[in-house]
Amino acid sequence: MELSGVSVAGACELNPFAMAQQQCDDCANILNIDQGVREIIREPMQEIHVSIPVRMDDGSIKVFKGFRVIHNNALGPAKGGIRFHPDETADTVRALATWMTWKCALVELPLGGGKGGVVCNPKEMSQGELERLSRGYVDRVWQVIGPDKDIPAPDVYTNPQIMAWMMDQYSKIAGKNQFGVITGKPLRLGGSAGRHDATARGGLYVLREAARARGLNLKGATMAIQGYGNAGSYVASLAQELFGCRIVAVSDSKGAVYNKMGLDPQLLSEHKSFTGSVVGFPKSDPLQQAELLELDVDVLCPCSLEGVINAGNAERIKASIVAEFANGPTTPEADEILFARDIHLLPDFLCNAGGVTVSYFEMVQNFNMFYWEEKEVYERLDRKMTAAYHSVLEMSKKYGVNMRRAAYILAVRRVAEAMQLRGWV
Ligand code: GLU
Repeated sequence: MELSGVSVAGACELNPFAMAQQQCDDCANILNIDQGVREIIREPMQEIHVSIPVRMDDGSIKVFKGFRVIHNNALGPAKGGIRFHPDETADTVRALATWMTWKCALVELPLGGGKGGVVCNPKEMSQGELERLSRGYVDRVWQVIGPDKDIPAPDVYTNPQIMAWMMDQYSKIAGKNQFGVITGKPLRLGGSAGRHDATARGGLYVLREAARARGLNLKGATMAIQGYGNAGSYVASLAQELFGCRIVAVSDSKGAVYNKMGLDPQLLSEHKSFTGSVVGFPKSDPLQQAELLELDVDVLCPCSLEGVINAGNAERIKASIVAEFANGPTTPEADEILFARDIHLLPDFLCNAGGVTVSYFEMVQNFNMFYWEEKEVYERLDRKMTAAYHSVLEMSKKYGVNMRRAAYILAVRRVAEAMQLRGWV
């Protein structure tokens, strides 16, 4: 699983795609961008809606709805994860595909933006059902994906095993091994060293730079993590290991726990894998999920779904840095409020770009049939994330805009330039 699914009271009512379009319009206005570019970036270039029949373990056939959206491929083949989530909608996938375009452009990957989704609840499905669904998805979308077209990866509730089934199914259809069709694969099947915790690690490199810029010492700094899933649990353990941060609160879909002296990420993960939740963790006090977001901590890390920081709670956020490991956790109104309150926000498509960056490294290794050591992956990831943070910070100072707008300015300009060079506008 790439990110955990957590629903929080008061989560955003706004349609995520309307939010993504609003962000594009806003950036186009600041840059006074060409009308053609403005129109193109508001809509996905291509999308496919599919129905996937799956034989369930009880013998019945169930039909699942799936999507794959390519938002823009001016910079290169589309790239982005596949989510398996009961609340998946076409608009969520469109928004996430759009954000992938900006994410890849921001960290200077030669890739465009795409995303996929299947409406299902993997928590209620057996491994056999999940395998048949994963293979069925590829049977329906294989014409639009491919190593030089559109390369999926893990996202919410999908994992390396699912990527392995999908790669195998695509390879069967192609009649040859096609490791490069998908990333986030198991190491034995062409996965990259360092991909498993790349989203967390990449964001923590950004956080390290942000803390330096803000004069915050991360050693002993307090951190609250909303969404203790795959990304969130790696954020906790790596933040402690790399910088000595103190993780004081974590939440998941069932509740939240708090201990001002700090929670042990290793023990928390063991507790969660045993009981299915962080709730009831020994030596911790229960907390409302919504309260976690408003704790007086140095760093707040939203690590689950969209819209958890919104107009309803942004005035009460007390963290000095908000690091968006999730996609779309802050609504545009909340962005304004946090900026006015001088909270340093590390926007999603900067902060969580580590995952797709190492996915890109995985593709490069697959193409070359030559695999790198972990150290090389970490060093290259660090260089990309550090450079991206500083260029966003510089842009934010230059234009006097918040970090998200600054990141948009950089990313949209790069995509616009590619579209102009290709003669699309
Ligand atoms: N799902 C991740 C994201 O949203 C990774 C995508 C990828 O590796 O292609 O960035």
